[in-house]
Amino acid sequence: MSYENFTIETDADGIALITWDMPGKSMNVFTAAVMDELDGIIDTVAADGGIKGVVITSGKSSFSGGADLSMIQSMFTFQQAEKAKDPAGAAEKLFALTGRMSALFRKLETCGKPWVSAINGTCMGGAFEMSLACHGRVASNAGSVKIALPEVKVGIFPGAGGTQRVPRLANAQDALQMMTTGQSLTGARARAMGLVHQVVEPGQLIPAAKQMIKDGLKPVQPWDEKGFKAPGGGIWTPASAQLWPAAPAILRRETAGNYPGALAILKCVYEGLQVPFDTGLRIEQRYFTHILQTTEAFSMIRSLFISMQELGKGARRPAGQPKAEFGKIAVVGAGFMGASIAYVTAAAGIPVVLIDRDQEAADKGRSVSAGLVAGAVGKGRLTQEDGETLLSRITPTADYAALADADLVIEAVFEDRTVKKEVTEKIEAVLKADAIFASNTSTLPITGLAGNSKRPGQFIGIHFFSPVEKMMLVEVILGKETGDRALATALDYVAAIRKTPIVVNDTRGFYVNRCVFRYMAEAYDMLIEGVPAAIIENAARMAGMPVGPLSLNDEVAVDLSYKIFKASVADLGPQSVDPRHMELVTKLVEGEGRLGRKAGKGFYDYPPKPAKKKLWPGLKDLYPQQKPEDVDISVLKQRLLVTIALEAARTMEEGIVTDPREADVGSILGFGFAPYTGGTLSYIDGMGVQVFTDLCETLAARYGEHFRPTPLLREMASRGETFYGRFGGTGRKAA
Ligand code: NAD
Repeated sequence: MSYENFTIETDADGIALITWDMPGKSMNVFTAAVMDELDGIIDTVAADGGIKGVVITSGKSSFSGGADLSMIQSMFTFQQAEKAKDPAGAAEKLFALTGRMSALFRKLETCGKPWVSAINGTCMGGAFEMSLACHGRVASNAGSVKIALPEVKVGIFPGAGGTQRVPRLANAQDALQMMTTGQSLTGARARAMGLVHQVVEPGQLIPAAKQMIKDGLKPVQPWDEKGFKAPGGGIWTPASAQLWPAAPAILRRETAGNYPGALAILKCVYEGLQVPFDTGLRIEQRYFTHILQTTEAFSMIRSLFISMQELGKGARRPAGQPKAEFGKIAVVGAGFMGASIAYVTAAAGIPVVLIDRDQEAADKGRSVSAGLVAGAVGKGRLTQEDGETLLSRITPTADYAALADADLVIEAVFEDRTVKKEVTEKIEAVLKADAIFASNTSTLPITGLAGNSKRPGQFIGIHFFSPVEKMMLVEVILGKETGDRALATALDYVAAIRKTPIVVNDTRGFYVNRCVFRYMAEAYDMLIEGVPAAIIENAARMAGMPVGPLSLNDEVAVDLSYKIFKASVADLGPQSVDPRHMELVTKLVEGEGRLGRKAGKGFYDYPPKPAKKKLWPGLKDLYPQQKPEDVDISVLKQRLLVTIALEAARTMEEGIVTDPREADVGSILGFGFAPYTGGTLSYIDGMGVQVFTDLCETLAARYGEHFRPTPLLREMASRGETFYGRFGGTGRKAA
């Protein structure tokens, strides 16, 4: 029998080696077709008297990424369509659909023949759940092997037996930790937890897996043996009495109750360990069906998986442009940003010339890469040899002639129009005619800067976020005259350095910083109202933000806010800045020298390590303080999220951002906008535009005009539209 996704070879010992190798895919994933084939294979193996046991492995460098999340997304579509037809029957049908994979793995483990999973590379989600259903698991000790159940990161949870098998193999605490964080395990860690039986050299993987069968591996799982007890003895033990009362509190501390998928893991494990295995699977299936119907799961899968993948693959790339090749890239300005841009470029295998005003400054920029390489080598993420090759790609110099043959120049000099003009002219005096020029400016409109260029059609913004080597987002900014080739080149570059791009039309602050600015401004309002600073910071984290607004302001520098205010007043007039905000920031910067984290003091004090940062006590004296018990935290949470989402809606209305996927992905990758919402616009769509508009009106009445819903929102509310419905994922401009 032949299969599309698997090959089977049975050796002289009667051991069938099944190799999973999906044609035309870089990684194996579970699709409906793969499940159908595996189902057939299980039947064949069980019926074939000549087969004693099975080893399943992958023909690719990784084992598998797990379930194809587009398949999960299709379950949402199915559910929505079914709900419209038959509300009562829809959940039942979804329940049947979600049980498919779990039932398949249960069939595998009870088919009567021993199965061993030979984990040769990354093994995630559904693929590890299948491995858990195998009677033996052998992992390679290669550094590339990562084992994880990461479903919680996209709002769901391991729903194909994972929540039942993991705590029957590992102790409950480790099991919960693994599944509620989605963390990756090495083969050795998985073995220490009891999740794999052996870890071997890559070349020994298949022989070791076959040997397990030859050594008489029983085709019965421990939980199907009489008298089975989970590690640690299950729920009703003294150790469990320590663990279980604390577990929901710990989860709440980590997630503020915002992730129903994470809570469902606790419920599945706690309830499942008290019942026979098959009942446990049924409990898991029920919770899974429920979680699949949550707005959180829907929005997270759409933004964090589907959209992110689509944007990464060039969803916004103009058609008909040949793929850009980068023989050499020049980075001009080897300071804080330029040095790290050179590093990520060299790490992608591209030669870089790194230019600054003098050799010393350029060398200093390259030394940043040397430090990053040393760190990566120290942590075992990079070999010494690869580190040296990476560094050899960066040529520091003060000589502009070195960029003559660059295909792309990224300018990262001081944020000063005059300096940028002078540098642009100097670059273009030597740069080849067809090269693309990109500026990393964070505040100066690209159209204005392109005025310094002789070739504005080849001029574009490539806006990185700091720290460049960690931040996955890059904003690509289109000036008025930016052409398609410049856009395609910028997107090809972002893809080459393996980051996610969003394409934004030109405006002050672009997209991400406009939103971040609203977040910080709302916190200023709260401080001025006398809300204690600690409550503001906690409310933000409870709303799902990774960093409180005051802490964030310290990171980006309080004097930067001050400079931006002053620039706005100079360019747009005094009405462009709230005078109370100006007064607050002036007091901090000029009155107190509180410039932010870099100065050791801002909204927080930063004592020498290991002491932790603490909110500056002097904040209490700036404004009469409200009593903590008088503050409504739920309103603070709403204000912080709504003000950002409203700004995102404005950028859509103005045609700055044109595709809801970019607004959502940009908000999560750019500043960690409450990921459980799926991003700024999914937050609005998720509650409904009418509900959001009403909420804005309520907040506007109490907290100011900046909450007033925009004409577009009102129109959408009256028509019952959503952002995704109206704008699709196509990048169309607002009407
Ligand atoms: P920086 O001051 O650390 O670095 C600027 C570098 O440019 C310095 O090394 C300086 O010597 C060099 N330089 C100045 N004039 C030059 C010239 N004529 N020729 C060659 N080199 C010259 O500044 P930064 O924080 O790296 O910012 C650089 C750019 O990146 C700015 O446009 C800024 O707005 C933007 N940006 C900064 C951040 C951030 O978080 N700091 C984030 C995104 C974008």
